[in-house]
Amino acid sequence: MKMYCKNCGKKFYPTDDGWVGYPQGTGWSARLPANKRVFHSRFCWEDWTNRNIDAYSNFLQQFPDCDINSDNQNHN
Ligand SMILES: [Zn+2]
Repeated sequence: MKMYCKNCGKKFYPTDDGWVGYPQGTGWSARLPANKRVFHSRFCWEDWTNRNIDAYSNFLQQFPDCDINSDNQNHN
């Protein structure tokens, strides 16, 4: 399918069974479908993350911190 890189705007053509586009997932079984690979290169993925690090870290911090929860349970 045709995609435009979210970082640099370059046109690229990821496929579900190919290795074009990032992020790719962590293995054969976990490979991301083509329509979720929004960056044309690993550099663009990391460059975009660095430039949006505030929004990115705020997003991640919405999730519960499992380490803090388990610490509290130990004290109870
Ligand atoms: Zn790019």
